[in-house]
Amino acid sequence: MTVIDKIFMLFDQHGSQTYLGESVSLTQHMLQSAQAAERESAGSVLIAAALLHDIGHLLHDHDEDCAQRGIDSQHEDLAGIWLETHFAANVTEPVRLHVSAKRYLCTVEPDYMNELSSASIHSLNLQGGPMSSEEVKDFESHTYFREAVRLRRWDDLAKDPEVQTPPLEHYRPHLASVLCKPDNVS
Ligand code: FE
Repeated sequence: MTVIDKIFMLFDQHGSQTYLGESVSLTQHMLQSAQAAERESAGSVLIAAALLHDIGHLLHDHDEDCAQRGIDSQHEDLAGIWLETHFAANVTEPVRLHVSAKRYLCTVEPDYMNELSSASIHSLNLQGGPMSSEEVKDFESHTYFREAVRLRRWDDLAKDPEVQTPPLEHYRPHLASVLCKPDNVS
């Protein structure tokens, strides 16, 4: 099986779960994120990162309502570890940093937190709340922090049950063009 087929299989098997207390499924959410990236002509690297940013939720064993029960699934780290087997840092790091980017924006943009959904505010608290000024400095020292912030904004928009997106297959060429270790997986 190719890596991309494996990724699409994960979407098939686990993507119909509800996205963290929102009115869309995980698959709809990730497709809407990718669509938002594509609409900004963000390029294949960030379109792939947007499509894959919550792949950690397709990999972990926690229930879809784990955040409501006070469990942080740390899906961004799980995603980073899984993705780095096949993709370079320009894809994996924005994904790994997308939760930190929310904490960052809550600190540097006072209005940002008012726009978050209630589910997102709930998970923010589990994830450590807004960043301290030390954490802001540390976050801005990451090579890919700007990309992580862009990804975060697409993530925040991608929760509309009325939005239609292209199917997963539409994104295969984008994934294929940024895959750096196209080994087969078992
Ligand atoms: Fe997300």
